Amino acid sequence: MSDRDLRLDEALRRRIWASLGESIEEYLVDVEELPVLPKLDPVKIRKELASVDMETGVGLEEALSRVTGWMRDFQLHIASPRYFGLYNPHPTTAGIVGDALAATFNAQLAAWGHSPFGVEAERFLILELGRKLGMAAGSVDGTFASGGAEANLTATLVALAEKFPGYLETGFGSSGLRPVIYVSAEAHDSMRRSGRVAGIGDAGVSHIPVDETFRMRPDALEEAIRSDRASGRMPAMVVATAGTTNSGVIDPLSGVLEIAKANDLWAHCDAAWGGAAWIVPELRQHLRGLPEYDSITIDAHKWFSVPMGAGVFLTRHVGALERTFSMTPAYMPREGTGLDVRNPFQHSIQWSRRFIGLKFLMTLLSSGWKGYESAIEHQAQMGERLADLLIESGWKLLVRSPLAVVCFTLADRPEDGSGLDEIVRRVGKSGEAWISATMLAGRIPALRACITNFRTEESDLRRLIEVLNLIRAEVTA
Ligand SMILES: *Cc1c(COP(=O)(O)O)cnc(C)c1O
Repeated sequence: MSDRDLRLDEALRRRIWASLGESIEEYLVDVEELPVLPKLDPVKIRKELASVDMETGVGLEEALSRVTGWMRDFQLHIASPRYFGLYNPHPTTAGIVGDALAATFNAQLAAWGHSPFGVEAERFLILELGRKLGMAAGSVDGTFASGGAEANLTATLVALAEKFPGYLETGFGSSGLRPVIYVSAEAHDSMRRSGRVAGIGDAGVSHIPVDETFRMRPDALEEAIRSDRASGRMPAMVVATAGTTNSGVIDPLSGVLEIAKANDLWAHCDAAWGGAAWIVPELRQHLRGLPEYDSITIDAHKWFSVPMGAGVFLTRHVGALERTFSMTPAYMPREGTGLDVRNPFQHSIQWSRRFIGLKFLMTLLSSGWKGYESAIEHQAQMGERLADLLIESGWKLLVRSPLAVVCFTLADRPEDGSGLDEIVRRVGKSGEAWISATMLAGRIPALRACITNFRTEESDLRRLIEVLNLIRAEVTA
């Protein structure tokens, strides 16, 4: 059989699996020293791709070798211990294995009958995660999602459906209702987008000002709800962020929750990154109130370190997902009928869905919550250490987060945004590390470094500091 035939013979497949394993392991070793940021050369990438005769292909062995080469050369190395980036983790080995198995079985989790183990495993994980986060037994439901954006959209749709029965049939167009959801000015923009997708528009998403530590101001939230009600709008949901994308700060969870309850609003907590900190006893105090929220977004592909994409939506309102999403078309399989089971397509946005939870199950199964606890605790400690090292080196810290995120700037030129952009550019060019620049509260320029890798050690922090100090000397000379 030709090696271009889709069927491939067994001997070739066995060779491929062996060499795939080898190239994965080689990469995981080499990534410690690969330049974190590759040369940014779109022309070269396009030329490489265009060089292949796509009519015939090159055979799988050659394809594997080319693609691993291209990805080493032309990818930002998120798996590097000196990628101090945007909540994208070094993936667990168990997670990589889980994703490979999900692809191999091509598990289809739309209907229970097509993937009984997959659906039960995800149900188990949802209940287990809810239990671990301190949610009341018997009041845990949820679904896996592609990521935090889909989980936040799920929250928006469920909240609107629960607060405005009838919305699902009529939409808001004819009703004259003008619902509002409240998020902080530092919330992730996936909340604003969820307003667009849900049909309430940007106008339906109110951004509440933050205080000087970048947390949502409860007094401003109360005032916004009051004034919206007075002008005939319909407050529907309040979203607190536990670990903002910018700076890892946590909104006052208990205070926001109280206001939501007092005003009969759905309370959602976007804990995409920060929620995982709950499992570390010393960090839990920062998240007090989290389990009482009506719903929670928590990403397995962030601090639980599984490969993308794996988000989780949790809610303590069992049945709310079905009320929002359930439909019963004739063409779907019915093996589950009569059994005490659920079909994921009836309680989530996705239809055909891969076994998202498997990479999380594999990691939990192999390392347990204890494994996660020590990995997250280690990263939080590295974050504290990085903040201290920066201060020792004369950088100015802009805010302190317990969640391994550090925002800082030049001590003598704190307002110099273009200087910070230049620093980021030079750090990237050095190949030694990757950090980013951002704008806190839309007006305070900041450098941002986050410990996203459970392999990052103090020596990696010192290498970052060394590069930063060198570049600072050049830039401010
Ligand atoms: C990452 C993030 C999101 C978006 O999640 P995706 O997984 O990228 O879709 C939403 N909210 C917060 C706070 C995040 O950090």
